[in-house]
Amino acid sequence: STFEELPIHYKLKQNLAKKGFSKPSQIQEETLVHLKDKRNLIGVANTGTGKTAAFLIPIIERLLENPNTLTALVVVPTRELALQVEQEFKSLAQGLKLFSGSFIGGTSIGKDLSQLKRKNHIIIGTPGRLKDLVDRKAIALHRIPVLVLDEFDRMLDMGFVHDIKRIVKSMDKREQTMLFSATIDKTQKNLISELISNPVEVKV
Ligand code: AMP
Repeated sequence: STFEELPIHYKLKQNLAKKGFSKPSQIQEETLVHLKDKRNLIGVANTGTGKTAAFLIPIIERLLENPNTLTALVVVPTRELALQVEQEFKSLAQGLKLFSGSFIGGTSIGKDLSQLKRKNHIIIGTPGRLKDLVDRKAIALHRIPVLVLDEFDRMLDMGFVHDIKRIVKSMDKREQTMLFSATIDKTQKNLISELISNPVEVKV
């Protein structure tokens, strides 16, 4: 199938076309099947598969339905990945008046605090910095409906398990969680079932 055939907003279709994306990659295809039911989802996929757009497209769809609120938190293991995800968001959301903020370690927390006073539709960040901002009560996680945990296995390898649990447990109004990981072993599976209820699993 092509993006043109999918039940997504025409403005998003235009941006996908502008980026030169004509048809969904396999992970996007399998993820977008669940677009309308907004299910919890585990995607077993590596970098290079198009997993970023696989979670950004459903987020942008939600934002086009209801653009008035901070809708999604995307947690990633590294600064580089945070910036890449934000770039991808900006190009997919070009001209749609949707705003993003990225919050990563090694940068001024003062700058983060002023960014958080502006309008943000999506927040992207690394676990340590996000937890700092939550501890300072600068981010109201309890209002955000969508959570993405990207490169989950890497975040665990980097020792972020406690920060992640803390973040997830603060999200009282969480409606949908999308978790992506290159691999999922038994220990991870147990942790995932603690964090996410009844997810559909897609694999590429
Ligand atoms: P990712 O796995 O999300 O890091 O994406 C890998 C690369 O593929 C990025 O440069 C994306 O912009 C690009 N990409 C993602 N989806 C598509 C698509 N449907 N068609 C063409 N390129 C894509």
